[in-house]
This record gives sequence, C-alpha cells and structure tokens, in this order.
Amino acid sequence: MCSGDRSQHRKSKRVAVVGAGAAGLVVLRELLREGHTATVFEQEERLGGTWVYDGSVPLTNGCKPAKHVHTSMYKHLRTNLPRELMSFTDFPFVQEVMHSVDARRFCGHAEVLAYLEAFAAFYRLRPHIRYGRRVLHALPLWEDATAVDCGPRWRVTTCSAGRADQGVEEAVFDAVLVCNGHYSVPRTPAVAGAAEFPGAQMHSHSYRDARPFAGQTVVVVGASASGEDIGREVADCAGMVYLSARNWHTAPDWDGAWDAPVGRRRNLLRRPELGALLPDGDVTWAHDCPPAAHVDTVIYATGYHYTFDFLEDSGAFTLHDNRVAPLYQHVVPPACPSLALIGLPWKVVPFPQHELQGKWVARVLSGRARLPARPAMEAVAAEHSAQLAARRVPARKAHLLGDAQWAYNDWLAAAAGPDVELLPAWRSEMYDLTGEGKRTAPDSYRDDTAYPPHLLAAVEADMRRQVQ
Ligand code: FAD
Repeated sequence: MCSGDRSQHRKSKRVAVVGAGAAGLVVLRELLREGHTATVFEQEERLGGTWVYDGSVPLTNGCKPAKHVHTSMYKHLRTNLPRELMSFTDFPFVQEVMHSVDARRFCGHAEVLAYLEAFAAFYRLRPHIRYGRRVLHALPLWEDATAVDCGPRWRVTTCSAGRADQGVEEAVFDAVLVCNGHYSVPRTPAVAGAAEFPGAQMHSHSYRDARPFAGQTVVVVGASASGEDIGREVADCAGMVYLSARNWHTAPDWDGAWDAPVGRRRNLLRRPELGALLPDGDVTWAHDCPPAAHVDTVIYATGYHYTFDFLEDSGAFTLHDNRVAPLYQHVVPPACPSLALIGLPWKVVPFPQHELQGKWVARVLSGRARLPARPAMEAVAAEHSAQLAARRVPARKAHLLGDAQWAYNDWLAAAAGPDVELLPAWRSEMYDLTGEGKRTAPDSYRDDTAYPPHLLAAVEADMRRQVQ
C-alpha cells in the first residue's frame, strides 16, 4: 500500500485475497468498488467460511480432527448477536432482502450463510472467486519493490485444495489481503493425565450435535461463548455435564454451592478449571471440589490458534500465542505495507469491522487514503506494545478489543476518508444490551432480550435507509 502518493488519481492494483468468508467477501466488494482487480482464493468449494455447516465430521477420540475441516459450526447454533448488528452497513440482514425462512433475530447458521450468499450475488462477487484453490505460499518480492513505501509485490502460489502437489499455479500481485479466519485450528490446554485417560477427548471444533453424548457424563472445558452454549446443548442429552472454567465463580448464576444447577438444567453444574484426568476415568479440579466420577467425554471449548502458514517465509511479522506483531492498527505490518491481515480483533462485532478494515485498505491501495511512513507506523505499533506490557496483557489477548472496538471502528472510518460514515450509535447500544442479556439470562437472552422502543426504531430506520 502506497503511503507516498498524494494524487487524487485512483490507482488500480492487482490484489490477491485469501479466503471467501465474511471478511474476504466484504473486502472483495470494497476492492472492486475502488477499481482494483481482485482474485479471491478459497480452498473450499463454496463461500461463507465459518458459516458453511459440515455435518460429515467424524467424531474421533482425540483433539486432532480426522479430516481437514475449516468450519467449527455446529448443527443447532444460533447467533450470539442480533442479525441487525451483524449486518454490513449497506446490505441489511433482513428477510425483505434475502427471501429467507428463519426470521429469528438470533438466527441459525444457515440464515447467516444465506445472507452472505445474497451479498455475494447482489455485488456480483462470484466471478472473482476461485474455489478449491488453497494458498500455499505468499512470498514478498523485495528485489522487485518499485517504491519502498508501497511495499513489495507478491508471488502467490496456490494448489488444488487438499492436494499440495496438484494443480500448482503461481501469479504475481501488488498486494495480499489475508482473510483466512481464526476459528479452525484447535487450541487445547496441557492437562495432567490426558494421555492415559480412558474417556474420549475432543475439541469443540469437531462438535456438531449432542446426540453422541446421550446418557454420558461429560466435562466441557471453557466458558466462553462456545463452552456455555455447547455445555447447555449437551446437558439436554447427557446424564451429567460439568462446565469447567478458570473463572467459574464469576458466572452470574454461581451461588457458591457445587451442587447448584446452572439455570434450569439440573444436570449442568459449574466446576473450577481441570486438575487432572485420572486413569480410572475420574476428573479432578484445580480447586477444592469433589472429583467427577467416570467421565465419558471431555470437550475442550478452549479456543483456537491463529495460523498463517502460507506467510511463514515472508518475514513480515512474528506470530506468538495469537499475537501478530508488529502491526499498525491490527492490520498492516509496517515493514511490509502491501500486506494486510483482516479480522484479527476479537470480542467485536466482526462483519461491519471487516467492512471498515476493507474500505480503509482498499482506499490506501488506490491512493485515496494514506498510510503514515514506516517509522510512524512502527512508533504506533511500539506504543501499543508498551500499553499491553504496562497492563500485563498476555500475548493471546493482544487483539482483544471489547469496548475499545467502537473507537477503533471510528478510527478506521476516519482513516478511510471523510465520506465514510461512522457506525451509528444504535450498534453499540444494541451490543451492550445483548451482552447484558447474555450474562444475566444465558438460557433465554436470544428470545427474551427486550430492546427499548427508541433503539428498535433507530435500527429499523437504518435498515430501511439501506434497502432504499
Ligand atoms: P472465516 O469465516 O473462517 O473464513 C475464512 C475463509 O478462508 C474460509 O472460507 C477458509 O476456507 C478460507 N481459507 C483459509 N485458509 C486458506 C488458504 N490457505 N487458502 C485459501 N482459502 C483459505 N460472529 C458473529 O458475528 N456472530 C455469531 O453469532 C458468531 N458465532 C460464531 C460461532 C462459531 C462456532 C464460530 C467459530 C464463530 C462465530 N462467529 C460469530 C465469528 C465468525 O468467525 C465471524 O463472524 C466471521 O464469520 C469470520 O469471518 P472470516 O471471513 O474472518 O473467517
């Protein structure tokens, strides 16, 4: 991306995008709008990434999936954000636009996929996507760099998906935008006794539905969004479910008693983090609390590793425990401004943030927006590192934004250009109310959260504006 170009004339670049999930699609739309030539390489045979449910995942005893599957989507997942909040800023996630069947505000995964498909159809994105093409390597051509500030061009090597030795092709691009998703490579804790434990162990990446656990005693490890939801789902089928987490005592439903059920399910109990898995099938905890006897299955809902295998030799950044550094504004490595990593921040509303990141990057590439020079970007990245160190933030939380997402989104919009609108205020208000509902009524917030009339009116007005 060129930081030195002051002309108003838009430059058209040849851009490779890795991945056709929500991020890749909206980034492609922004690139095309900006007059670039873009090719999206997608390893799967269809678009949608995470939202493409694949029920053919064989259950294995082990945390390594039996076959490569990108998606971690499970059968009965309903979104944990209201659909209006998930929508891109100019393509409302409403039935009027999609002619779909699932009208729920917190809809099932098929509805989200239908939304992304409708988006791709409306903006005629499909001809720019090459399906079944896995990106093997993206190598910066430093010797070929025409202007230092614009960064190198890239040699991108792809192959037929699943066959690294077949259909290998190379092409050169001016820039690479990485939209490869971050919920595919399981992250599991090292647990004492795991190797000798007779029960099954799996990661939530391979969880699809609760039926295989009928009548079982199950431990679900991790109480983030997936752990809480999967724990509840499994409890509807299993004999007993223990929901184990480091912060069990901060759950709103924790009342200090080990035998107090979680919500309305009498067979769902909170437990501290795992102590050890024992050879007789029992499980102990890291705090004083009765062991769980004869556990059949342990499901690790313990998150994912960020991976960028195809950039390993680029030298553009380092990756340590899900922290990518140095990065300018969570997106651009200062030493390599023709590379952008989209979608790194978490605890955010992803779709509109992807859109703003894409808008900014597309405009930087065309010269309509500008990056600071490398030393200035390095200084911003160093300042961010210093803040994380001062607050003793662990590496894996370096891209956690939470409440900071709104200021970050505003920064992206402003950096993209004066004509780019800030996200309207109803989005943060709706996000906060949803979070409150999730915390206080995790069983029912999807159906029962009552948004105030002024908020719903603002949402509706915005959706209507977008349809026109
Ligand atoms: P992905 O959707 O993962 O897409 C990445 C794409 O890149 C994939 O299609 C993949 O095949 C492709 N790819 C990867 N590597 C390569 C390569 N080397 N070559 C070619 N192609 C490649 N978000 C919400 O807003 N609301 C929710 O309710 C919600 N629920 C979620 C539930 C689960 C179980 C999970 C896992 C995530 C959930 N999310 C939710 C977050 C979700 O990941 C984001 O909403 C969003 O889908 C991320 O889009 P993405 O394009 O960044 O990644």
